[in-house]
Formats: sequence, structure tokens, C-alpha cells
Amino acid sequence: MKVVLLSLLFMTTVVSAYSSNIGQKVDSLLSVMTLQEKIGQMNQVSGIDFSTGPWNKESSIVDALHRGEYGSVLNIHDPEEARRLQTEALRSRLGIPLLFGLDVIHGMSTIFPIPLAESASFDLAQIRQSSRFAAVESALCGVHWTFAPMLDVARDARWGRVMEGSGEDTYWAAQVAEARVKGLQGEDGDSCRIVACAKHFVGYGAVVAGRDYNNVDMSVAELYNFYLPPFKAAVEAGVGSIMTAFNDMNNVPCTGNKEIVRGILRDEWHYDGVVVSDWCSVAEMCNHRYAADQKDAALKAIAAGVDIDMVSRCYAQYLEELVAEGRVDVAEIDRAVGRILELKYRLGLFDDPFCAFDSAGADAVRCSPAMRKAARDMAKRSIVLLKNDSATLPLKNIKSVALIGELCRSKVDMMGNWSANGDAADVVTLEEAFLQRNIKTNYAKGFSIDNDECYWKEAVNAAKHSDVVIVAVGERGRQSGEDCSRGELTLPDNQQKLIGELKKAHKPVVVLVMGGRPLIFNLAAADADALMVTWWLGSEAGNAITDVLFGEYNPSGRLPMTFPAHIAQLPIYYNQKSTGRPLSEEVSFIKGYIDIPYKPAYPFGFGLGYTTFSYSVPKMDKSQIGPLESATLTVTVTNSGQVEGEEVLQLYVSDCVASITRPVRELKGVQKIRLRAGESRTLVFDINEAILGFYDNAAKYVVEEGFFDVMVGPNSNDLQKCQIEYKL
Ligand code: BGC
Repeated sequence: MKVVLLSLLFMTTVVSAYSSNIGQKVDSLLSVMTLQEKIGQMNQVSGIDFSTGPWNKESSIVDALHRGEYGSVLNIHDPEEARRLQTEALRSRLGIPLLFGLDVIHGMSTIFPIPLAESASFDLAQIRQSSRFAAVESALCGVHWTFAPMLDVARDARWGRVMEGSGEDTYWAAQVAEARVKGLQGEDGDSCRIVACAKHFVGYGAVVAGRDYNNVDMSVAELYNFYLPPFKAAVEAGVGSIMTAFNDMNNVPCTGNKEIVRGILRDEWHYDGVVVSDWCSVAEMCNHRYAADQKDAALKAIAAGVDIDMVSRCYAQYLEELVAEGRVDVAEIDRAVGRILELKYRLGLFDDPFCAFDSAGADAVRCSPAMRKAARDMAKRSIVLLKNDSATLPLKNIKSVALIGELCRSKVDMMGNWSANGDAADVVTLEEAFLQRNIKTNYAKGFSIDNDECYWKEAVNAAKHSDVVIVAVGERGRQSGEDCSRGELTLPDNQQKLIGELKKAHKPVVVLVMGGRPLIFNLAAADADALMVTWWLGSEAGNAITDVLFGEYNPSGRLPMTFPAHIAQLPIYYNQKSTGRPLSEEVSFIKGYIDIPYKPAYPFGFGLGYTTFSYSVPKMDKSQIGPLESATLTVTVTNSGQVEGEEVLQLYVSDCVASITRPVRELKGVQKIRLRAGESRTLVFDINEAILGFYDNAAKYVVEEGFFDVMVGPNSNDLQKCQIEYKL
């Protein structure tokens, strides 16, 4: 137990499984397996009492385990249950150990901020560390495999699953993908290594109208330029598994899509890890009306290259028949099973089927001081300050605070969706955090989140008796996540108009927007003195928020998604194309809308802090580069304010003329720096073919001759530009 605690940061136990003869071991095991046993490895069952989708619950999995009918199990939350099932699986003829998979999305027991919030930190080292801690807790609980990270680029905040990803930008999503895969899977020598799963392959974030499970249709260039790169980054980072998406991609369901699974993953990228379907997505090809029946669905999934059927039992029921009929080649099954067995060998399951499993260790680590510190560090970095009039924040000389809104004391909401084994009891609320600081709290509910009821009078009264007013508005933790698409993202009147009422108490009003996605709150923002987006920050939410409110941490988060001004603008994203009529508010025929603005409320990459930064005019060292050459852009940033702080420098590129229409600008570099008050630093960005090129309509990566605007600044809208020419 102690050892586990001490080794959290410097894990040294060598995992024995990475031996060079794994291939031989796999082959010799395959040679003694019956066809049924092989198919068993390709069949994944959900834990008895838990489901994360619609299914036909299986009555007893123990007998089936003895017969070797399952290769992996998902949704086991109880470590003792995992041990029990593994023990039963080892009683099968060949004693092949099970793989246990779980959706560990932002922490296992100690809950970290939701992924979208972590992405807002623009801090890759922290994100990687957060994933590492999640892996440690998972492994100790007997989990070998997490269905994370979600790498779906998402431009439509109506889609509830935006909370699980990195936001709207492809470059950033690819950087985060690498950090998360490396964090989860660890490095040689780390104990507590688990397998990551890049999901959902592919295009799930582009579902029509932001409606979960909806269709996806896009050009090849769009797919290659915007939706594939995070997956490619995960493959390059060595991800052990990939999950196919529920949606179709250009008229073929992803789970049966040969072109994307075999074509792109295996042939183009040479990915040789496991491919798992999403929950019942093999059988759901019948609902897509792409498969005639479940047997046809099994045939189409294996033909596409899906190794594991999650829950739908199509493989279990029909693969044997399909082999007998000569429609599926045993060699195909051997390849799939070979990949699954290899994963098990690599994890060391054949040496020790219980791996890092350690109940006592898991209990000791859960919300331990080290875990809490890490969760708090990550959480405070995830907060995005959007307004701070008259230096309302940080709070100074406060003796009492009015806390308005249920979310100030709601433990369960703070965890956000997909919170694995998180226990709401472990969450530090905002109210608790203030009390720990010996600040008097005057709590008032103020409004209902679930209906339009208002309790404004008591809220104004609480405000009158306090030095400052903190109002927590937003949605509930479970209003974003899977199956949580929303058609209305504007905060209702009972939340927004309350801010104007509270102003009548003549106290500074700080609004905290809590949610798992961009929300719309124009009125509240206009009335607030200060406003921050605090997402769902997990176990240490309250402490992290007060760290920022009191200026013990100077906020450095930046929006990883555009925040719309109106719901009808969706999907809205900074890297749109210019069109033949670039928008302008003043000119007829290009106004965008006649009844709402076309500009967002807050652009991608935006965020404030308690200091200010000034940028020099950026300079290029060359005006022209050619193949394999690079240039450097140099810019000097100065902390022009009074306190130390962090700035997120963002580099954008715009192709002035190209053979296909290209975005107005695209993020191509990020550097987060910390400067003392008055300090300056000169930063350098490399400009090369990797950031000037794109995939054309034939999916070919090209770098075209011509001019490129290269821009740098604090967000996607506030940039200074240089130009460079690329010449062949
Ligand atoms: C989700 C996946 C998840 C799986 C297993 C599905 O409904 O789409 O993201 O990993 O369930 O829980």
C-alpha cells in the first residue's frame, strides 16, 4: 500500500510482458485453440449489473467463462467482482485471462476535470499527468483497458459528447491525443500501465444537427484534414486499441466500413492493434439498414476489420456458421484473435492475470493527498476567465460571501458525466471550500435548474448581507455526455435575469458558468462584474475555484471551443472557410443573418487572467522557403501587468490561395509560458511544410506554392500577421 503511494510519481516496476517472443507465444496458443475458443476472444460482455447502452442482459456469465466464450468484460466497477470473474475465466480449458475494460474518462476514483475542461488548460504536461493518475487508480482497481481518449473533433455544442473530447480544433486534439495515450499507457518501466482506446473512429463529432448517433457525411478532404489527425496522432503514440463509431461515414456505418478501418487504419497507417466495436454497433448495422440481419452484420464487421464485438453477440452467434459456409476465412479470425492475445501478453496478463490489481492499494490512493493535489492543480488550470471588470477578481479582504445557486453545494454535479468509480461524497463543493477558508457563507438557492422557478428575493437578501456575490449558473453534470444532445443552450431567464436583480444589492457579482459544453449567457455576462467558465472540475472543484477566486492561482485557461452568441449559429467554429461572400456586419448580402449576429460570444482560444500581456510585432527570418526548409517566426511577449501569470501563445496559418477552399485560419502551434510581472520572453515558432500543407480531394498530402499568412496572438481573433512564400 505504502509502496503504491510512494511510487505514484516515479513508477519503477518493470512490466515483464514486453518480451520479444510475444509473437511466438501468440502463434503457439492460437495453434491449440478451437474455433469456438477463438471466437470467444472476439466477444465482449458487459458486467451483470451495469450497462452503458441498450442491451439484452446475459443471465449467467460464469458458465460461459468456463467455456471460454468471452475474451473481455466491460463495466465492472467493483475490483472484487473483477477478481472473481478472472478467477472463473482461468478455469476454462486454456485458462486465457480476461481483459477488463471500463470508461475511465476523467479519473477512476479521484475525479479530475472533464476532458473538455482539461483541454482548456492548454497544458499538455498536466493533461498527460492527469491521464497517468487515472491509469494508476484504474490498474489498482483491476481495470486493464480504458475506452478513452475520445478524439472526436466537435464543432457543435448541441452534441452532448463535446464534454468528452478536446474541443473543436484538430491540431490541438492531436496534441492532446498523444498526451493522453502516453499518460494512460505509461512508459516501459511504469507499473500500472493500462491500454488506451482511441474513439470513436471516425467523424462521430460531426453528427448532423448535433444529434447523438446521427449520420455523418463529409468530403474526403474534410475527413483527412479535420477528423482523422487526432487518431493518426494516437496511432503514432502507440495506442493499443481503437473503437469504431456508431455513425455512418459517407453512407457506410463505421463498424462495417472497410475503407476507413482496413483502408485507413491498417493499410495507410499500418496500425496493428485491436479494433473494438462500440456498444452493440455491430448489430446496429441492421438498424442502419446496412445489414440484412445479425449474421450479415457479423460478416460486414469482420470484413471491415473489427476484432471485438462489444456486447451485441453477433460474432458469438454467427462467426462459426460464417466460417463453415466459407464466407469468413479462419485466417481472418486468427489475425483478429492474434491481436487480442498479443494485447493480453503485452499487458502481462499471462504472467499475472491480476496484474496491478490491489484493493488495499486502490483504497489508499483514492483521494489521497497526492491525488487530490494533482486533481486540484489540473482543475485550477482548466478554469477560463471571460470577464473581470474593475479588477473584481481576485477577491480581496472578503469576510462573507453570498453563494447563490444549487451548484455551489452540489457534489454530484461537480463530478460531471462518465465519472467511473467517483463518489460524490469525496467532492469538495464551493461552499465547503469557502468554509474551509473561514469565510462566512450566506447560501440561497436563487433559482431552479430543473424548471423555471425563481427564488430571487432570498438571493438578493443574501447578497445584501455579504461582501461579494458568487452565482453558479449552468446545466447539470448529467446534461452533457452520451445521449445528452440539447436543442437549447441559452441559460433560462430565471438564471440570467437573476444577475441583474442581484446587482440591486450593490455588491460585486461574480458569475460561474458550470457545464460540460459551450453555453449561451449573453445577458448574465453583460450584468456580471466578473465571469468564469468552471466546467465540471471533479473531486477538487471547490478548492480549485476558490484558488482562482482568491488569486492564489492566476487563471490561464483558454476556450477550446467557440462559445456561440445564439443557438442558431451552431455549428460554429473558428476555422471555417471564407466562402465567396466573407461575412461583414455592415454590408448587405453578406450579413450572415438578419435577426442575430454571426459573430460568436467568445472566440476559440480566448481567456483572461489577472495580468496582461503585450506582444511585439512578429518577425519571420525568411520571406521564402522551399521543400524540406523551414523558417522561424519570432515574437516577444511581455507581462505588462502587476502579477506573475501564464500566457497561451497561439500560432495560426492561413493559405492565401489553394487548389481547394481552405479555412480562414488554422491553429498550428501553442506555447504556454509563465512570466513574472514586467518580464519579457522571445519565443520562436518553426514554420515548415508540416504546417503549410493539407490533404487534397484525393486524400493526398500536398504543400502548394504560394503565400501563407502566419499569425500569432492570444486567441483566434486577436492576431498579428506575417507572410511567407513557399516555392517548389
Ligand atoms: C459509448 C462508448 C463507450 C461504450 C462502453 C458506448 O455507448 O459510445 O464511448 O466506451 O458505450 O461503455
